[in-house]
Amino acid sequence: MLSMGKYVRVGSVEEAYELVRQNRRACVLGGGAWLRLGTGTIPVAIDLADCALDTVEPIDDDPVFGRALGIGAYVTLRQLERSAELAAATDGLLARAVRDIVGVQFRNVATVGGSVAGRFGFSDVCCALLALGAHAELVGAGRLPMEDLLARQGRLRDVLTRVIVPAGPVRASYQAVRNQSTDFPVASACAVYAQGGGWRVAVGARPGRARLVATPLSAEPAPAELEALADAARTLPFSGNMWASERYRRHVAGVLACRAVEDAAGPVRTDALESSAEARAAARAERGEAQ
Ligand SMILES: Cc1cc2nc3c(=O)[nH]c(=O)nc-3n(C[C@H](O)[C@H](O)[C@H](O)COP(=O)(O)OP(=O)(O)OC[C@H]3O[C@@H](n4cnc5c(N)ncnc54)[C@H](O)[C@@H]3O)c2cc1C
Repeated sequence: MLSMGKYVRVGSVEEAYELVRQNRRACVLGGGAWLRLGTGTIPVAIDLADCALDTVEPIDDDPVFGRALGIGAYVTLRQLERSAELAAATDGLLARAVRDIVGVQFRNVATVGGSVAGRFGFSDVCCALLALGAHAELVGAGRLPMEDLLARQGRLRDVLTRVIVPAGPVRASYQAVRNQSTDFPVASACAVYAQGGGWRVAVGARPGRARLVATPLSAEPAPAELEALADAARTLPFSGNMWASERYRRHVAGVLACRAVEDAAGPVRTDALESSAEARAAARAERGEAQ
């Protein structure tokens, strides 16, 4: 069972950072859904509930993206799933990425901050945010693109305050394979196309942390480009565990990366919360293809 030595409900994120600096084993609390699986004692548990980090706010003058959305660290995965602003900015991507994470009650507890700071290899959230080109804002390390945050070694000793997502518009698709519908993904891929910015394709659950796939793709990629994408995705490092073998993951990652690009290359979805199956059917109908 996990226990806490001291519980501190801080009034500011700077105060939280000071506590983290003073005690190497101090721990910022997110929703606690992951932490509670651990054992031992957290000497200082830091609660950011009074730091007003539980909203999604528009940003009009972001120095990097111009228009953007700031997602507070205490925004739950369920808020991420239900936010109309995020749905419009991300082509409904975040809702589709999180909808198979355990269940609604769980997603009402688990936070964006815990997911991003946790940097779990299986994280659907990190894979989607990486493909979106999001940045994380931390007291300590400052502002980091997702790829830099995910590449950092060792335990994070900063306080994550916000994740900043460009306001779009983008075309996006999230694809994952699970052995059972609410289990961890055994392979995942996410593709995002932004006018002027091109494609960003991420592969996650390798089972290591999500990584970008570096391969040139045109706006509507030809079959040969998709083959090159699958090959590039399969050159990332993969390994096996009790969920799937290394060989299976490598193969499926290539398939999912292509599927994500093909799906995203369709028309922009208007109802971002619809299921991707419905969206694909609507896209096919719009293109005049047989169902
Ligand atoms: C049974 C189970 C199944 C899951 N399945 C999936 C899945 O299929 N897909 C998926 O994407 N995710 C999955 N997750 C992970 C989940 O979505 C969350 O990412 C996870 O629970 C962490 O979020 P939390 O709010 O609970 O964080 P916590 O458990 O509170 O914290 C997790 C870590 O992040 C640190 N932390 C939290 N907030 C901050 C902050 N603001 N600044 C700095 N550090 C911080 C904590 O100190 C801790 O080290 C699963 C988790 C569980 C327990």
